[in-house]
Amino acid sequence: MMQQYQNIKAENPDTILFFRLGDFYEMFFEDAKLASKELELTLTGRDCGQDERAPMCGVPYHSCEAYIARLVAKGYKVAICEQTEDPAKAKGLVRREVVRVVTPGTVIENSMLDEGKNNFLCVVAMFGNRAGLCFTDSSTGDMQVTELDDGDLAQRICNEIGRFNPSEVLLNPEAGHSKEITDFCKNKVNGVVSVQPDANFDEAKCSDLIRRHFHCTLKTLELEGKPNATVALGVALGYLYETQRTGLERIQGISLYSESQYMQLDLSTRRNLELIQTMRTKEKRGSLLWVLDKTRTAMGKRLIKFWIEQPLVSCARITQRLNAVDELFSEGIARAELGELMQGVFDMERLMTRVVYGSAGGRELKALSKSLEFLPRIKEILQNAKAGMLREIHTAIDPLEDVHDLIERAIVDEPPVSVREGGIIRKGYSEELDDIREDMTDSKSFIAKIEAQERERSGIKNLKVGYNRVFGYYIEVTKSNLSQVPPTYIRKQTLTNCERYITEELKQLEMRVLGAQERIVAMEYQLYEQVRKFVSDQLSRIQNTAQAVARLDVLCSFAQTAAINGYCRPEVNMESTVRIVEGRHPVVETMMKDVPFVPNDTLLDDDENRAAIITGPNMAGKSTYMRQTALIVLMAQIGCFVPAAAATVGITDSIFTRVGASDDLASGQSTFMVEMTEVAFILKNATRRSLLILDEIGRGTSTFDGMSIARAVLEYVADKKKLGAKTLFATHYHELTALEDELDGVKNYNIAVKKRGDDITFLRRIVRGGADDSYGIEVAKLAGVPDTVMARAKQILRQLEGEGTAAVRPVHTRKRKTPPPPEPEESGQMSFAPSAAENISRRLREVDVNTLTPIEALNILYELCRQA
Ligand code: ADP
Repeated sequence: MMQQYQNIKAENPDTILFFRLGDFYEMFFEDAKLASKELELTLTGRDCGQDERAPMCGVPYHSCEAYIARLVAKGYKVAICEQTEDPAKAKGLVRREVVRVVTPGTVIENSMLDEGKNNFLCVVAMFGNRAGLCFTDSSTGDMQVTELDDGDLAQRICNEIGRFNPSEVLLNPEAGHSKEITDFCKNKVNGVVSVQPDANFDEAKCSDLIRRHFHCTLKTLELEGKPNATVALGVALGYLYETQRTGLERIQGISLYSESQYMQLDLSTRRNLELIQTMRTKEKRGSLLWVLDKTRTAMGKRLIKFWIEQPLVSCARITQRLNAVDELFSEGIARAELGELMQGVFDMERLMTRVVYGSAGGRELKALSKSLEFLPRIKEILQNAKAGMLREIHTAIDPLEDVHDLIERAIVDEPPVSVREGGIIRKGYSEELDDIREDMTDSKSFIAKIEAQERERSGIKNLKVGYNRVFGYYIEVTKSNLSQVPPTYIRKQTLTNCERYITEELKQLEMRVLGAQERIVAMEYQLYEQVRKFVSDQLSRIQNTAQAVARLDVLCSFAQTAAINGYCRPEVNMESTVRIVEGRHPVVETMMKDVPFVPNDTLLDDDENRAAIITGPNMAGKSTYMRQTALIVLMAQIGCFVPAAAATVGITDSIFTRVGASDDLASGQSTFMVEMTEVAFILKNATRRSLLILDEIGRGTSTFDGMSIARAVLEYVADKKKLGAKTLFATHYHELTALEDELDGVKNYNIAVKKRGDDITFLRRIVRGGADDSYGIEVAKLAGVPDTVMARAKQILRQLEGEGTAAVRPVHTRKRKTPPPPEPEESGQMSFAPSAAENISRRLREVDVNTLTPIEALNILYELCRQA
């Protein structure tokens, strides 16, 4: 047996091998050491024909799923090796085979999956300046493929990986050599990454596998002329065949997508905007998803997440969604009833996976059938829908009455967990089964009668008929009555105070009962299998229906959120204006309990209002305002209503953000380095149709450096001849507000505050013009910095203001009115060069005014002017 183990282990080298021995899965050698540590199992040993005992540990077969789940969650692969013949019938060693390899990206067990999330396996096939990507969720049968074929390839691959957030990534050797990709996978992806051999990425081999799997040509799949996508898809399929081995028919088709169908959002923007989870706690609560998700089904939960992560750029598709949401919003369609109906629908997609893989039991079939119960009514409600998308959903929903009817007729109301112990098929479903059952009932009732009959015959009053698993049925007589036992009784067992017997008649009946029992179990299993097979064959009908329900669920969720939170329908068009009237931040307004959220307007266009410079003290609400603008644009483009009184959104092809502290410190880069890398990325990738959110650019370095960078970036993005993207630019460098007069399309805004004495009140209103102060000291006071420190800060500030030394306090001058009057050193072009200011001040310090002649003074003045 150990030889058999070694052979199988050699075929599955990078897995932990679960080797079935009777009622246990055992692990040996290194696997045992590893698993005992990871799973806190006791390590024992077993003779293995060598000098030393083999380290061994094991888990009971019935609870193996939980153990496998823990190993897979830690990124290990588990090979499950079963006994593939009946030990009772095997001659010599029982045959054993690996029936499945469970890896993080190929899990289908519910207990290892999160119902609200897809579980993707990603394959990257990169060749020179082209690449193919494939993302597969085998628990839902979803397979998405794309081909990327020009500039910035590694970056774009990372972007896609970031978007799908796979649990497992397979790279071809070339992708494995790209530092950018491997670093990204290591630092930003929660899954395991492995480099697969080049031989797997063979185009001919991959095409062949695809044709055989989908039973059609590459042309039908629209893969012609997409060799890299073909290879990625082929490798994904090959890997699934290798790991899952059965049930692959679950994957029925692919969706071919192109990046340009969706708004581009890089990973840091997704995180900054807190679309799916918050930056700090990584929780759903506090994210956009948390506000928008009122879905009732697991399918809807996965889809809404997907939609939020990929806003559309096609006006027509967005409008389709908006029309549907509108109709549900205005209650043209009974939304509340739809919601209640969908509440009863289980995860049909994942149930179907188990049905197809053959791991579904009676309970799963029942759950499926319970879900189907609601379909006819859902379809009926949608009958008079006007919106195109609702009509499509109406058509796509198959009421599946035949499937429901079959399951209900065949399966009992509360089926047992196991499908191999009977008790699963309903009475009346099969005449033959009912006959055998009746036969068994008869035999049992005969046995029950035997007790009375034998008491009578033998005269033993306390004679009893009993049953145990070893001896079957028996007649029990206490010691005191042994003399009365009839000679036809055959003694079977002696206990302390009684003897047990059998009779010919009892044995006959017993054989009938047990024979019937065995036949019933076998037949029930067979009938159940027929039902399962029938349901499995309806996969595409059920899958299409499940997806239609998912879409309906998300649209209803959008409509419901809109109704509860007072959102409005945005107008989405191909023009280039974003105009928001009384916009609110969807998450901040939901989180705020005590004070009302103050709405604000936004106007960004391709002309006069390309860039808004936003100043104002810390805590005033600058970043809230900028994010709310980005979120409203994004919400409009996923087809959702928006938190505003009115909104017009010209399609935006990408949103880029550079905000606050990044979570990248772990990767060993300095904050400033991260900031600049992000700025570089934005400037390279943004277009005129992009929306840029830039918060305090240049903060991480010295004031002069920072301000120079900030200004240069702003000049670049705002200039129509250069980038000309719509930009919201928050800054503490008040000097930058001068750009309003110098650059076309730049406007100053600030978030108003009211000051009384040492106290300030945040008005949260965005108004035109630059802020007149940073109110740093007042905000510090609000934050509870001790009075003594505050008093000293004020003293220092007064000193600095008195000196007005640009080198020491260049940020801005207090009490400047809006718009700021030009200061001597700021007239014309602003100058930030520290050397000029320093030189001038050094030169002045050298001068002895008491001894200076008028002509000398004039000369020095002349010299200083030249330096300035
Ligand atoms: P800043 O970026 O200017 O430092 P934030 O945008 O972080 O300020 O806002 C600070 C806090 O002010 C937010 O957490 C929020 O509670 C509150 N706030 C911001 N904008 C508004 C608003 N429009 N209405 C009400 N409260 C707001």
